[in-house]
Amino acid sequence: MRELLDLSPAELREYFASLGEPRYRARQVFEWAWKHLVWDFSRMTNLPVSLRERLTQEFTIGAAEPGASLMDAEEGTEKILLKLPDGEGVETVLMREEDRRTVCVSTQVGCPIGCAFCATGKMGFHRNLSAGEIALQVLFFARKLKAEGERVTHVVLMGMGEPLLNYEATIKAIRNLNHPWGLNLGARRFTVSTVGIVPGILRLAQEGMQLNLAVSLHAPWDDLRAELVPLAKTYSIREVLEATEEYIRATKRRITYEYVLISGVNDSPAAARALGKLLKGRLAHVNLIPFNPAPGLPFRRPSLHRVEAFKRELLKRGINVTVRHSRGVRIQAGCGQLRAQLRANPG
Ligand code: SF4
Repeated sequence: MRELLDLSPAELREYFASLGEPRYRARQVFEWAWKHLVWDFSRMTNLPVSLRERLTQEFTIGAAEPGASLMDAEEGTEKILLKLPDGEGVETVLMREEDRRTVCVSTQVGCPIGCAFCATGKMGFHRNLSAGEIALQVLFFARKLKAEGERVTHVVLMGMGEPLLNYEATIKAIRNLNHPWGLNLGARRFTVSTVGIVPGILRLAQEGMQLNLAVSLHAPWDDLRAELVPLAKTYSIREVLEATEEYIRATKRRITYEYVLISGVNDSPAAARALGKLLKGRLAHVNLIPFNPAPGLPFRRPSLHRVEAFKRELLKRGINVTVRHSRGVRIQAGCGQLRAQLRANPG
């Protein structure tokens, strides 16, 4: 069976043309699945019954079973493990913050980057997600919110995996979620987070979409960065920054630089000064994320004093900076911690 959410509107048109159906069938079906969030062909009442039956035999829609979930009422986060038909699981998080409803999605099962401070990195790489599997994470929470009279307002691609190493599926999922026939989420509502895959950044710059780009730097020096983000050593910090400048030229969007602060590793005043020097004068915002300790990871969280001192060094150089004290998505929610926990306690 094929997954309907894997298809773009153009592919749906082709499919219905191959059946000798009128062109408008593509829009009808896309609207049911992506806008009305109806995932049962028998309820698509403006389609002939025979067509509904045929679609039921050929396609699944949103084929994933919700598994265990974790709620943090104080933080307003809800994490869910969605079980895919092949038995793999994918983590998705909903964050409720004032009037924002942000879904943090995964783009791969596991991750090939292997960041030293990340639980997903330790898990290794299992496989890429398809466009439909990426999108259904957003639609899963869109359906839940709809029942509560709310809607998804933002999407961050910061869960498990490196989006720019699963480029085609990631862009297809974004384009489908952005499509006016569906959720119609504006391009500026999406943030693609990368460790700095240079060819991917340059390609994204050419997509003609004003997507937000977040780059995980984690160190101001190449040698330290290579220790923390092993796969990223293919691209020097200089090359990454050249690519982000190109991204700004093409999209006029400010770049967010993410920096997980780890005690005694990358949180020194010298590191703060070096980071400040690198980013001074650029269209940049820095997110400082104090490391959240996790089982099996040999790092410590820096003191509040140390975090504030790091922040001050950046502010002194005129750099916008935010400390994300508890919402370190990559660490707390997006990096396999939920999945690892479920594996340990499968019941
Ligand atoms: S932090 Fe992100 S890029 Fe690094 S291993 Fe974890 S999921 Fe992959």
